[in-house]
Amino acid sequence: MTHIIEVTQLKKSFGALDVLKQVSFNVAPGEVIAVIGPSGSGKSTMLRSLIHLEEITGGTVRIQGQKMADNGSYANAAEIRKITDRMGMVFQHFNLFPHLTVQANLELAPKTLKKESAAVIRHRSQELLGKVGLSDKADAYPANLSGGQKQRVAIARALMMQPDILLFDEPTSALDPELTGEVLRVIKQLAQENMTMMIVTHEMSFAREVADRVFFMDNGEIAEAGPPEQIFGTPILERTRTFLQRVE
Ligand code: ADP
Ligand code: MG
Repeated sequence: MTHIIEVTQLKKSFGALDVLKQVSFNVAPGEVIAVIGPSGSGKSTMLRSLIHLEEITGGTVRIQGQKMADNGSYANAAEIRKITDRMGMVFQHFNLFPHLTVQANLELAPKTLKKESAAVIRHRSQELLGKVGLSDKADAYPANLSGGQKQRVAIARALMMQPDILLFDEPTSALDPELTGEVLRVIKQLAQENMTMMIVTHEMSFAREVADRVFFMDNGEIAEAGPPEQIFGTPILERTRTFLQRVE
């Protein structure tokens, strides 16, 4: 298997609104893709479609060689579940469970699956809290954490399921500028460990530094894709240039 994500002619409409128009791309194992583009261009819908938070209207999505959707028709629920269990997603607004401690947030999903002992799960939650620099916050509640700490908990929680693919939808957009660095550092470390990631971001210097390829989305399509040096240095399309001039 050369590609861990294979998307062919993905279409997504909400009623009469065509949000994704024939989007095709592949991602290699260990690749880091930054997805940039104006608001409303379909970035979130694209990521959500990959992890089955949206049902696509047409096209084919294959994850790790398994067909999730083929020509718009889906595999059965158990097969979809098997595929999406190998993926994690981190959202702009953290989506932590407010009534659970940090540790319980991390352990809920693996405990629900009941495939591992509590001791194994506890060992991993402690290890992952250490990895994101929050060992001392295991018993804290989300309300008592900063935004940057919450997002690092959300990343550790996603890692608890030992995913092969992580999707990030604007992971730092809700953070005060002084808190973005601590979250970006964790993502950078995951990149160094060869995690396959697709990251929607407005942090252009981060995208330039961490991404193997950049997808510029505009109006429901990947208008231009290439290595960061190309997209940020010598973009081919006028609309890529215009977008970058507006955000940088
Ligand atoms: P981006 O993440 O690039 O800002 P989105 O994927 O969120 O773009 O949205 C793309 C378009 O799809 C927008 O026009 C948005 O209003 C529309 N859209 C997104 N989700 C829905 C939905 N659940 N119902 C109707 N329209 C939606
Ligand atoms: Mg979005």
